[in-house]
Amino acid sequence: MSKWNMIVDVQKCNNCYNCFVGTKDEYVDNEFKGYTAPQPLHGHEWVDMKRAEGGQYPMVEAQFRPEMCNHCDDAPCMKVAKNGAIKKRADGIVIIDPIKSKGQKEIVDACPYNAVFWNEELEIPQAWPFDAHLLDSGWEKTKLETVCPTDVFRSLKVSDQEMAKIVKEEGLKPRETSDGSNPKPRVYYKNDFVFTSVFVGGSVASQNDGIEDCVQGAAVSLFQDGKELGRAETDAFGDFKITNLSKGLGKVTVKIDHNSKNQSVDVEVDESLYIGCITI
Ligand code: SF4
Ligand code: SF4
Repeated sequence: MSKWNMIVDVQKCNNCYNCFVGTKDEYVDNEFKGYTAPQPLHGHEWVDMKRAEGGQYPMVEAQFRPEMCNHCDDAPCMKVAKNGAIKKRADGIVIIDPIKSKGQKEIVDACPYNAVFWNEELEIPQAWPFDAHLLDSGWEKTKLETVCPTDVFRSLKVSDQEMAKIVKEEGLKPRETSDGSNPKPRVYYKNDFVFTSVFVGGSVASQNDGIEDCVQGAAVSLFQDGKELGRAETDAFGDFKITNLSKGLGKVTVKIDHNSKNQSVDVEVDESLYIGCITI
């Protein structure tokens, strides 16, 4: 049996918000009977653009990650729903029934991904329904995919065995839940390290007759307890950035080597860090 899955490539997202706006365009003021009631104009983010900022001036960066209902196979929202208000379709999509769910606000709190929004006017819980009304009418892709200019989204209708293989081959990961549980989501994230990891950056300069010059091509390595965690090379401005590091690393040593000159600096890494300019 083939089921729907979604892959979200975080590295490709440029925060253009087309997915957010496209979802508003599809669902605000539009009712799709059996799928969803209209989404309110304000307050609902069925596709929620999250931002992770890091670093200090002059080396800062922001990464973005779209988040939505994960269409979980072991969905906590279904466990609190009464009267069959939430159904899991044979193709994997989870639908919150817009009529049966009336008054069931507990469904909002049950989601460990905070993906359910309460419609005050209609008194119903609502979440992104995988654009199921479009797929059922013959669309081969979700609307999310058609509006994203950088191909962040990729929906696949495959068997669970095939999906498990793809997850392994492409290094996909589900999003972390607020309570550490694993509700078996069907939305997977690719290159999620760009959103969750931190960097150590800095600049390297040299003194020549009292004039400070940028040093290009210096080898910079980061060590902790004698183990190398990453390396980079300075660019034409003398800047370096060692990426893909874990948050809360603690004490590390930055070693710089260039033309037989070297320098070491100990720093404490919690979040992304710009260590300033080091003269060698
Ligand atoms: S993400 Fe939340 S709302 Fe969506 S299926 Fe999972 S538990 Fe239910
Ligand atoms: S449309 Fe694509 S690139 Fe734009 S914010 Fe959404 S996911 Fe990112």
